Amino acid sequence: MRCPCCGQEMEEGCLGTREGYGLFFVARPEELPSVFDTRKQIEAAGTVILDGPRHTRRRDSHCPAHLCRSCGKILIDCGT
Ligand SMILES: [Zn+2]
Repeated sequence: MRCPCCGQEMEEGCLGTREGYGLFFVARPEELPSVFDTRKQIEAAGTVILDGPRHTRRRDSHCPAHLCRSCGKILIDCGT
């Protein structure tokens, strides 16, 4: 896959965290509740859920991604 910003070849990998609640793109972090339980509560803050949410912190979260080392961009398919 070619980088849409600079045209260099991108490296396949994943974006991930360890032992968290999940992996999210949060549009309005100030609106994210400190305690959440459902997908609907998380999505209310303009959030895209990439993996999770998890109610226990015993699993890793990850989603496929491509990295451009040339310009430092990471491309994620968020499935929306
Ligand atoms: Zn690039």
